[in-house]
Amino acid sequence: MADKNGKLNLKNLTFSDSVSYYFDKAAPFTDSPQGLLDQIKACNSIYKMNFPVKYGNQVKVIEAYRVQHSHHRLPTKGGIRYSLHVDQDEVMALAALMTYKCALVDVPFGGAKGGIKISPRNTSPEILENITRRYTSELVKKNFIGPGIDVPAPDYGTGEREMAWIVDTYMTLRPGEIDGYACVTGKPVSQNGIKGRTEATGRGVVYSLNEVCSYKDDMQQLGLEVGLDGKRVIIQGLGNVGYHTGRIIQEYGAVVIAVAESDGAIYNEKGIDVEALHKYRIEKKSVKGFPGGKYIADSISALELECDILIPAALERQITEVNAPRIKAKIIAEAANGPITPGAEKILLKKGTMIIPDIYINAGGVTVSYFEWLKNLSHVRFGRMQKRYEEKHQSNFIKLVEDLTGKSVPKSRIDSLIHGADEIDLVNSGLEDTMINAYRDIREFKKRKRNVTDLRTAAFAVSINKIRDSYYTMGIFP
Ligand code: GLU
Repeated sequence: MADKNGKLNLKNLTFSDSVSYYFDKAAPFTDSPQGLLDQIKACNSIYKMNFPVKYGNQVKVIEAYRVQHSHHRLPTKGGIRYSLHVDQDEVMALAALMTYKCALVDVPFGGAKGGIKISPRNTSPEILENITRRYTSELVKKNFIGPGIDVPAPDYGTGEREMAWIVDTYMTLRPGEIDGYACVTGKPVSQNGIKGRTEATGRGVVYSLNEVCSYKDDMQQLGLEVGLDGKRVIIQGLGNVGYHTGRIIQEYGAVVIAVAESDGAIYNEKGIDVEALHKYRIEKKSVKGFPGGKYIADSISALELECDILIPAALERQITEVNAPRIKAKIIAEAANGPITPGAEKILLKKGTMIIPDIYINAGGVTVSYFEWLKNLSHVRFGRMQKRYEEKHQSNFIKLVEDLTGKSVPKSRIDSLIHGADEIDLVNSGLEDTMINAYRDIREFKKRKRNVTDLRTAAFAVSINKIRDSYYTMGIFP
């Protein structure tokens, strides 16, 4: 990381160097001995594999990885991405981020990540299925997957279809394993997935931003009003995370003024209908020509438009020392993993930009993955036992109120009063509670430690302290 004079040049950092840099920046604010810090930071296991796959008449060698960064809690957890950018450094960085993310939101897993170096867009579904199944059997062979070992999930370029192939392959190779469905999360609901997982990361981003924008002092400092209502938002990426974030943030009254995609951006000061843009893009395979806004060919330049909140929800390293000086957003919410480089962060913090770090704000996905894993282990849908009981209890209570007061409760209010919690209600309320509590921890830590001036350092420090505590309770460092 350091040059020959021992100086750190932020420009030369790889992605995993940047994660280590953030760790080192936060470590002095934690109360952990150096040896334990070294253990927390170290990457535990790296499995690199190459396997052959048939592409028509040809055979191609596929490069793939699974990295387990930390085993302080088991299973390890993290998505699998399909992208041509996949390499060992990227997967290591993403696995480390998973460790800190899980600890921060009290999800009791170590961090892991997987990656396959392919372009999912240019690969047929048949070949994608072959690759996914072969990858899964490689993981099984090396004991790198299992409900108590390592539990993958979707990430960039993968979704519930790939997770269904993974669980099916796993169950074929491990027949009769009673908890086998918990070997992967983000599965289709029909395959023992959970309602609300698909949109969980985006919903978590919005719950978090709603909490972030609720503090008067913080908003005043940025020259903003309290609340999400009326906030002008720019989103980069209309994949799973960007799309759901955009759709849900509009329900809170925010105005999405620009959406940047790989083939151009759409801009409309009056607001873009995210649902309509998403539909258009799926149909036309491009955002170009969307009637609800102006097309900007230079997509990345859209991040520099005037706005209140910028949400990078695509890939890492999108905001660098080159474009950071031109970014005007007051708040940047890292819905993607690692979208801001350390050099860019320095420039942004100097300008007073509030950066809500990835390890906090995109933790909604893994939080609901945790709920799915719990559901799979308990073999029962959330809400199944108590929903009807709750409804009976509430309607008895309403009857009592009516008897005592002699007045009847309006019909229009009865439904919402007696509604017992379904799986989706419980998932969303568990998610909201998690995101709110984690932000309070980070914000309070930052307030308490006067030399901590940014939320990322506070988030890393809170996370490191939680990991340290789990080592202590394991009796490893008494
Ligand atoms: N890939 C997601 C992330 O980066 C989700 C991981 C999971 O659900 O395990 O957080």
